Amino acid sequence: MASVKNEIELFKQFDDLDQESKYLAHKAKDAAGHAYAPYSKFAVGAALILDDGTVVTGSNYENAAYPSGMCAERVALYAASAQHPGRRIMKLVVVAKRKGGKELVPATSCGPCRQVMLEFESNQSKPFEVVMQGDNHIWIKAPSAASLLPFAFTRDHLDTHHKP
Ligand SMILES: [Zn+2]
Repeated sequence: MASVKNEIELFKQFDDLDQESKYLAHKAKDAAGHAYAPYSKFAVGAALILDDGTVVTGSNYENAAYPSGMCAERVALYAASAQHPGRRIMKLVVVAKRKGGKELVPATSCGPCRQVMLEFESNQSKPFEVVMQGDNHIWIKAPSAASLLPFAFTRDHLDTHHKP
């Protein structure tokens, strides 16, 4: 059995990432090109791969009523659930670029997206890797959504803390 890494890994170079992560990063970059971000001008793309090899992408979609917009990660996750129910997510990669720009810029997932990732991870009872670019262009590879959200609130709290 292959060993499972439990620690967050950091990579200085994009090329140091594994092939699958690089492939998904390119897919995510393509998706970022479809972002609707007229307000922030910050285009985000996400690409996840399922256990059958299917890739599902998402991009951020903003709204004049700001909170009505949605992050790329959640667009991809919800689309995967709707279109490929029951499939296990293996990895999710997030990238960002300025509107009209070609170079990727650092963007780590927001708190609500991490919370949603954790819900998906809980539902499939198996972790999935999350790859994103942090400050100083360091690539972050997390072994699980849980590793990105310490002390998270989960369904376990609902199940155990409110029993009489
Ligand atoms: Zn988000």
